[in-house]
Amino acid sequence: MELEPTIFDKIINKEIPADIVFENDCVLAFKDINPQAPVHVLFIPKLRINTINDLKDDQAQIIGELFLAARDYAKQITEDENGYRVIMNCNENGQQSVFHIHLHFMAGRQMQWPPG
Ligand code: AMP
Repeated sequence: MELEPTIFDKIINKEIPADIVFENDCVLAFKDINPQAPVHVLFIPKLRINTINDLKDDQAQIIGELFLAARDYAKQITEDENGYRVIMNCNENGQQSVFHIHLHFMAGRQMQWPPG
């Protein structure tokens, strides 16, 4: 069954603009349109996976690629030592709104806990 494309498919296919900060064969990263911190970037796999629940056992590498890209970006913007937060929301209680998994990367301010 064909999945309805999400806004992120359109960004991957360059059909709509995004402020892209990183791209390789597996991962695309771009600035969140509604930033919740001075730095708020989304790291997404180019492969469509709706939610964490839909991850297959053989897709662990993809999740690893998201984290490695986030690690390198933190270093590139020299926020690695200050620190940052990565979050992945899942389904309704997790407040997921785009059904293409993505790692939120936030930096540039003191985060609070619990996140709410
Ligand atoms: P989530 O609520 O975890 O599914 O996160 C989806 C994120 O995508 C939100 O933080 C939105 O602000 C962000 N977003 C939605 N549309 C766009 C877009 N066109 N470009 C960049 N970020 C977007």
